[in-house]
Amino acid sequence: MVTIQHHPPRGRWSYLRRGQWRSGLANGKHTTLICCPCCGYVGALRETHEIAADGTVSPAYWHDVTSCGYYEFIRLEDWAP
Ligand SMILES: [Zn+2]
Repeated sequence: MVTIQHHPPRGRWSYLRRGQWRSGLANGKHTTLICCPCCGYVGALRETHEIAADGTVSPAYWHDVTSCGYYEFIRLEDWAP
């Protein structure tokens, strides 16, 4: 289990650093943006992901690109449902 740190509320998505998350918009929908701890790519959680009250994301986060392939169970720090 890897803890993803909560990015400070101020600042733009482009300032996300590896292993951080924040709320944001993707294609006009509210979503959760994750900065991949492995490669630093910022992407949105899929609609198939569920986030438990304690921030645990299921199923595991999988960065499905050949250049990365990061696969881990993650938990979002400071998550508030
Ligand atoms: Zn990655």
